[in-house]
Amino acid sequence: MSTPLLLTMLGVYGLIVGSFVNVVIVRVPSEESILHPRSKCPLCQTPIALRDNVPVLSWVLLRGRCRTCREPIPVGYPLVELSNAVLWALAGVRFGAGWEVVPFAVLFSVLLALTVIDLELYLLPNAITYPAAIVSVLVIPPLALVATDTPRNHIVGALIGAVAYAGGLLLVLVLYELRTKRQGMGMGDVKLAVTLGLWLGYLHPILVLYGLLAASIVGLVVGAGILLVRRESRPYPFGPWLALGTVVTILASNWILDTFVNLN
Ligand SMILES: [Zn+2]
Repeated sequence: MSTPLLLTMLGVYGLIVGSFVNVVIVRVPSEESILHPRSKCPLCQTPIALRDNVPVLSWVLLRGRCRTCREPIPVGYPLVELSNAVLWALAGVRFGAGWEVVPFAVLFSVLLALTVIDLELYLLPNAITYPAAIVSVLVIPPLALVATDTPRNHIVGALIGAVAYAGGLLLVLVLYELRTKRQGMGMGDVKLAVTLGLWLGYLHPILVLYGLLAASIVGLVVGAGILLVRRESRPYPFGPWLALGTVVTILASNWILDTFVNLN
């Protein structure tokens, strides 16, 4: 398959799945079913017709307003769909038309949903972090068998990655709470770290360090920025930076391993 065709396909599928990511973001925190009923306008509760549910395009054609009540529909909806399409295309750039592109594209969608939920509500729902970890554990061994020449290395790497990432965060969490008697990072971050560590470790366990480094840099920069803008102390979400650090590290993993580790 040619690269432009692959990336176009992934972009289109990414838009459609991005629409489902919106459903997850809205419904999972309030424990509603993600399968039915059909999506409704968040403002007037009118069910959304199929022709008004085309990712991004419907929002643009309706000029960002509900067809029934004419109230503005938040720009977050098309932005999530677009972001998901870009993430899927980037997964295609990194992994090409092999088996690996599928689980990594799905991982990126899960991380996008968790990022938006954590930014809005300061929580990482168990209803996403647990299934993500369990499905990852089940998918990695057969994936390593069909997609790599050294399946054992990749499976062991995934286990090392999960223990290192989740164990590392748990240690920081315990030390921080012992010293300050305050809550910083939460157990949700540690549960998310299991999945992040599994997939970084699948590629190479050393990438856990790069993932944490990238997360710390982005988290510190953004955190300092927020502190400068508003002084009051608010809960600070860590999930988005852990997720972003992992996505960046996965996308740059070939380059990192060639340039800094020289083990590829
Ligand atoms: Zn409406």
